[in-house]
Amino acid sequence: MLAALRAEVLEANLELVRRGLLLYTFGNASGLSREQGLVVIKPSGVPYEKMTPADMVIADLDGRVVEGSLRPSSDLPTHVALYRAFPSIGGVVHTHSRHATAWAQACREIPCFGTTHADYFHGPVPVTEPLTPAEIESGYEANTGMAIIRLMEGRDPLGCPAALVAGHAPFCWGESVTEAVHTAVIVEELAAMASETLAINPAAAPISHALRDRHHFRKHGPGAYYGQK
Ligand SMILES: [Zn+2]
Repeated sequence: MLAALRAEVLEANLELVRRGLLLYTFGNASGLSREQGLVVIKPSGVPYEKMTPADMVIADLDGRVVEGSLRPSSDLPTHVALYRAFPSIGGVVHTHSRHATAWAQACREIPCFGTTHADYFHGPVPVTEPLTPAEIESGYEANTGMAIIRLMEGRDPLGCPAALVAGHAPFCWGESVTEAVHTAVIVEELAAMASETLAINPAAAPISHALRDRHHFRKHGPGAYYGQK
C-alpha cells in the first residue's frame, strides 16, 4: 500500500541525515495521502542505514497503525494532530538540528532579519508556550501538536511552515514530505544566520514589512512571480 509515498518518506528521512540535521535516530519525517487519509511515517529507533521502504509504518489520522510490523515514530500523535489541523499540508518533519533547537531551548522566536527568511516565512519562526506538567504527563506528543496548533491560530501554515516547540526543537511542514525536509534545512540555516546576526549586532532589528512582503509574496500566493511556475 502507498508504495510511492513509502519511498518518498524513506528518501526524506535519509535526506535529513545527508543534510546533517540528525544524530543517531533522532528526528522523523512523515507524508500524508489526503485521498486515503493515511500517514506514512518512519519506524521508531531503526538505524537509518538499515531502513527500507517496507519498514515505513502506515497509520490513519487518529494515529492507529493500519500497516507495518514495526512501531511508528513516537512523535506520530504530533504529526497527525498537525495534518488534521492544517488541511493544506502533506508532510511533517521533526529534527533536533543544532541551531534551530538552540532557539527553541532559549524559548525565543527567530526574528525575520533578512530576505532569505522572508522568502519562506511571512514573519518570525514562532515559538510555543511551554507545556504544562499536566500536558507533559498525559498525551504528551498529542499535546505538543496542540501547542503548535494554538500558536498557529491566525497564521497560514504555508506562510509559516515551521514552529519551535519551547524547550524542545522545531517541527516543520510543507505540501509534501519532500517540501517539509526543504523547510527543515532552511529553518536550520535561518536559525544559524539569526544567531550570527545578533552576535555581530545585538541590536539588529527585523527587516521592514515592505521588504518582507516583497520577498514573501513574490514566491507565495496569487501574485507570485518567482521561478518558472
Ligand atoms: Zn523531538
